[in-house]
Amino acid sequence: VQAKLDLLKQNSHNTVNALLDDIALGLAKNVDDKIAKGEKIGLLEGIPFGIKDVYMLQGTYTTASSNLLKKYKSSYTATAIQKLLDAGAIPLVKENCDSFGHGSSSENTIFGAVKNAVNPDLVGGGSSGGSAVNVAKDYTVFSIGGDTGGSIRQPAGYNKVYGLKPTYGRISRYGLMAYASSTDCVGPIAKSIEDIKIILNEISGKDVKDQTTYTSELISDETKNDVKSVGYFKSFIETDAISKEIKDDFLATLDKIKSKGIEVKELDFFDADILVSTYYTLAMAETASNLSRLDGTNYGDRVEGENLKDTYSITRSEKFSEETKRRIVGGNQVLSQGFSDEIYLKAQNLRDQISARFSKDFEAVDIILSPVTPQDPPKIGDSLNNPLAMYLSDAYTVGFSLGELPTLTIPKGTNTGLQITADKKNDAEVLHFANFLN
Ligand code: GLN
Repeated sequence: VQAKLDLLKQNSHNTVNALLDDIALGLAKNVDDKIAKGEKIGLLEGIPFGIKDVYMLQGTYTTASSNLLKKYKSSYTATAIQKLLDAGAIPLVKENCDSFGHGSSSENTIFGAVKNAVNPDLVGGGSSGGSAVNVAKDYTVFSIGGDTGGSIRQPAGYNKVYGLKPTYGRISRYGLMAYASSTDCVGPIAKSIEDIKIILNEISGKDVKDQTTYTSELISDETKNDVKSVGYFKSFIETDAISKEIKDDFLATLDKIKSKGIEVKELDFFDADILVSTYYTLAMAETASNLSRLDGTNYGDRVEGENLKDTYSITRSEKFSEETKRRIVGGNQVLSQGFSDEIYLKAQNLRDQISARFSKDFEAVDIILSPVTPQDPPKIGDSLNNPLAMYLSDAYTVGFSLGELPTLTIPKGTNTGLQITADKKNDAEVLHFANFLN
């Protein structure tokens, strides 16, 4: 624990929002004492981990990498984090990310852009960029990220580690700062499938504090693969938006899978730009609603105005980032009278159609494979001024979020990783198939 804290202190200002030295060293001492007494310790006991800075951990800063919450301290602990603490894991750090999860590069943050672990000139990916980089650099053994539309899977791919977005509802969102509640997912980033499985088993389960959670079975160690057929979306591959390298690598991966005796089927699916516009319409609407509570009255910083209304508007104008404001304005627009039927309800309807198509596809195949992103990570500085290009870079991740499906990024198959998706609640199948590909 001390060695990892030292590494974080010396090397990774760009991934750290706050170090949790006091908590970490206290907990490490308890584990040392237990070992000295010859007591048995559990699988996760003493294992150091990182926390994306959107999770509550009582008494620590939870900034969401934003100015508005720069001095905000959590008054309670998120369910997933509490479960890890109960299992003896040791939290080291609150990790840099895109503010409120808004972004795909971890540049939308007051703590400075997160640098890619493989090439520091490139972005770390987002929004859980700090978490993926810390794992890739061995500053943490695993990190807990958050994935609303790709924020675990994409940075995992950009930094060549594993990242899982579980089925929506498998892990409690209680204590995760809400971005878009209908697709927000808690999930692990780690260096092996085994580690992903151990953490997933520890933090899954029904929670009375999150009514969307369900009871799931523990995932076993079995390595047997039941997958007989794999599908891929023609619309993701037959497009000018994908780089030649990523396309060629992906097709070569499909060939390898075929050579292992698994059937590979091409599937008709929605065009990626429909997925992106549906996702962003709903995500912006939900974030406009969720962030309306941050007005300078109860949480975080306040900038006093002449009256209450002024105080709200000055606080929000000065303390939210440009990207966050863009989403709040966009979200309020699509929810407002005169627009909601035409835009918001249309997006809801498309989401139903997307889910229905997924259900149909999973009658034909066991697993869907896709690249994580259409292009390699951009250089730091290139995407901040081009929000539309950034939204389009989420083309392959957001659909599975809308479908509430379990999806794992593995650092294989293409330069920015391969996504393995199964039908709802089949998280185990995703991990077993990943093991089979390894
Ligand atoms: N890049 C996507 C967005 O900005 C996904 C972010 C996330 O999953 N938190 O909405």
